[in-house]
Amino acid sequence: GPITTDMKTLTEEIEKFAKDKRVEIDTLKIREEYRKDFLGNVSHELKTPLFTVQGYIETLLDGALEDKNVRRKYLQRASKGVDRLIYIVKDLDMITKLEVGDLNLKRESFDIIELIQNVFDLLEMKSAKKRIILTFDMEYDKPVMVYADKEKIEQVLTNFLVNSIKYGQSNGTTEVSVENLIKNKVIVRVTDNGEGIPKQHIPRLFERFYRVDKSGSRSEGGSGLGLAIVKHIVEAHGEKIYVESEIGVGSEFSFTLEKSESKKID
Ligand code: ADP
Repeated sequence: GPITTDMKTLTEEIEKFAKDKRVEIDTLKIREEYRKDFLGNVSHELKTPLFTVQGYIETLLDGALEDKNVRRKYLQRASKGVDRLIYIVKDLDMITKLEVGDLNLKRESFDIIELIQNVFDLLEMKSAKKRIILTFDMEYDKPVMVYADKEKIEQVLTNFLVNSIKYGQSNGTTEVSVENLIKNKVIVRVTDNGEGIPKQHIPRLFERFYRVDKSGSRSEGGSGLGLAIVKHIVEAHGEKIYVESEIGVGSEFSFTLEKSESKKID
């Protein structure tokens, strides 16, 4: 009769309601875990440089300030610690914006070859210090116009190149190449002959704060966010990112970009 039908509908409704709530609660729990995890990582990253700075300042206040031979050196080290803090905070700011989807891409047409050259110039000191040569291999020796957020793509290139210097061997080489891919795409590759990455780490490389060699990367001044930032930027463009690596041979990081001619057509 109608009563049983109503009862059945009601029971179904209650069950559905309960299920929706469970899903909601599960989502909230995951978010809460994620948030805790993130905050834990952040404070961990900030601690080391903060303690360094504090250590040098306290030593100076405890009397080292009177010592002409060490005071300058200690201040320089404290200053380096502050630089590192700024660098980490900048990366954190970027990853937060990326993760809440607040990126706001400003796409324009630009020459990717010229951008690579600019990034090379900016990293000249850093690479020379480790005697790593940055080279360029191109299919065509002319401008390659792409349609993307220039500033963000500069960040992608910078992060890949900085890593290739950090994890490269001295007297090594990093080669960047731009090649035509299917239809309206190009692929940009950054290839080094550095230490390489063990296979089991590759699937997790792009997670934030993930590092293959924890102490090694920190001493090199990394925030552990570089590749997570890169992945977000490339995916926000609707493009793909790839990594191939072999221990003792080197690593190749690559990503695709849209050519700008194709943009003009449609
Ligand atoms: P980090 O600040 O630690 O460099 P990233 O997110 O940029 O953070 O990189 C994550 C980890 O991936 C690094 O700690 C390092 O172990 C590994 N890695 C990244 N690029 C390279 C490379 N070119 N060669 C070898 N290992 C790399």
